Formats: sequence, C-alpha cells, structure tokens
Amino acid sequence: VVELVDVTRSFPGPPVVDALTSVNLRIDPGDYVSIIGPSGSGKSTLLNLLGLLDRPTSGDYLLDGVATGRASESVRSALRGGRIGFVFQSFHLLPHRTVLDNVLLATLYSGVPRGERQERARAALDRVHLSHRVDFTPTTLSGGERQRVAVARAVVAGPHLLLADEPTGNLDSTNSVEIMELFDELHADGLTLVVITHDPAVSARAQRRVRIADGRLTELDR
Ligand code: ATP
Ligand code: MG
Repeated sequence: VVELVDVTRSFPGPPVVDALTSVNLRIDPGDYVSIIGPSGSGKSTLLNLLGLLDRPTSGDYLLDGVATGRASESVRSALRGGRIGFVFQSFHLLPHRTVLDNVLLATLYSGVPRGERQERARAALDRVHLSHRVDFTPTTLSGGERQRVAVARAVVAGPHLLLADEPTGNLDSTNSVEIMELFDELHADGLTLVVITHDPAVSARAQRRVRIADGRLTELDR
C-alpha cells in the first residue's frame, strides 16, 4: 500500500518553488491510477517521491506501512529494490546493446544466477510481445517497440508497483494505444500502476483518475 500523508515538496530558491502542497494519496494493491495535469503542475515531483527517488519536505510517505520520509538511504533502497519499476518518456535504453541485454542489465545485481536471469529477461520480453526482437538493437526498433523494451526492463525484477512518467509522450497515437493496451494487461495480471500523463486519452484508461494542478491533487469520479 502506497500512502502519501500531507506531503509537501518545496525546492529551495530563490525563488522557493512549492511543487507539491498538502498531498494526500492512498493507492491500494492492484489499483490503476492516472495522474493528469499541465506542465509544471508537480507530476514528476510526485512520481519521484512515490519511487523513493526524492524525499518530502514535510509530511510522510508510507510504503507498505513503513515510514520512508526520514528513513536511512539503506532502508529506502531496500524498499525500492525490485519492488518498484520505472518507465520514462524517453526510453533510456542502451542503443547499441541488444534488446535482451537491455533487459538483462536490470537484473545484474539481483543475486540471481545468469541462466535464471536470461530466462526472466526472455519472459519479460514475452510479456510485452517482443520475443521476436530479442537480438535486435533499440536503434532498429519503432518508438512503441522501444517503450515496450523499457516496460520489460521495468517489470523483469517482478515489482509490485510500476510508475510511468509520460510513457506515451514521445509516441504517436498508434504506438500510444499499444502501450496503453500493455498497461491494461499488466493491470489485469495484478500489477499496481501509476501513470503520469497530460494526455486525456491515456488518463481515461485508468481505473482511477487523479488531477494535479499547482501541486494540489483532486480525485476525479471513481
Ligand atoms: P512537465 O509536464 O513539464 O513534465 P511536471 O508536472 O512534471 O511538468 P515538475 O517537474 O514536477 O512538473 O515540476 C513542478 C514544479 O517544480 C515546477 O515549477 C518546476 O520548475 C519545479 N521543480 C521541479 N524540480 C525542481 C528542482 N529540482 N529544483 C527546483 N525546482 C524544481
Ligand atoms: Mg514531468
């Protein structure tokens, strides 16, 4: 369970920017939440907090009941490790390594033997329907395919929570639909999804829609 309790995030200035103000948000296992809002509204700041990449200025973030806001970096990285997957707008793939290698690299420090990691990487690529592309390099793939590699990399360690920041921001509408359909499948498999977007079509796919404006959240109809 993900729980933001009265979270504020300010960036020291000058000028001081209050990127998030009094944010309360609870996300239950299996939820599919979209967060929609204009540029500069605090979406990435929120996602970075949820992903334990950043800390609140005040308030706290409870992850499965553990207060993380003032926890040590080792506690935070233990909580993050394997449990949280990320997908970004720009795919952040290694262009000259194969698709399989790109996914495999995400399992490097898992302590799992190489053979087993290979199997998991292939299974993750199968999950995103890219089994026929394992030996290609990202440079030869379409944008939608590249993002699917990024999704495979995000799920290969078996996270409970998948955080996506504008996952369709660099894609045309056909490729966007492909990614949205993939998210529907991952949700059906039980993954908890938080998708940040400014595209209403992407937001509409979620089971729960939250709006953000000027660092404040409003829950839309449920
Ligand atoms: P976009 O749609 O353009 O990605 P966003 O909703 O993701 O926007 P954020 O990146 O969360 O917006 O930024 C929210 C506010 O916080 C903005 O005013 C931004 O300038 C400010 N901000 C974000 N990160 C920092 C930082 N590291 N230092 C200072 N200000 C920051
Ligand atoms: Mg952003």
